[in-house]
Amino acid sequence: MNRQDYFAKKELNKQTRVDAGLVSDRFPGVSGIVIQMIYYRKLANPVHMIRTINFFPTSYAYFNMECMMKECVDGGFDLAQVISSLIKKHKKLVKGKMVCKGEGESLASHHASISYEINIQYSKQSK
Ligand SMILES: [Zn+2]
Repeated sequence: MNRQDYFAKKELNKQTRVDAGLVSDRFPGVSGIVIQMIYYRKLANPVHMIRTINFFPTSYAYFNMECMMKECVDGGFDLAQVISSLIKKHKKLVKGKMVCKGEGESLASHHASISYEINIQYSKQSK
């Protein structure tokens, strides 16, 4: 990917984020979302990385986590479905695993995966 493509992609990502809307608009009654994920890379020496991401009512409701492999195209871990169904059921916690479906010339089809834990906090006035 050349520099220009890189910046074009970054801009696109920013736009997608804005288009996703705010947490307070998409999920009124939610006061916070915490995503904890462990990112695994399938290599000779498997590396893992732990990330905690906090969302507030003023954050963009954009839950597509990037795959950290540079060569990966259209990859990532989209937790939007998981989160919206969790909120629909008014549940507080979910755990699961996801495999990156992105592709790249030198990448194996299961080059990366995450295991995640999502916590939702609801504001008191909602049921
Ligand atoms: Zn990937």
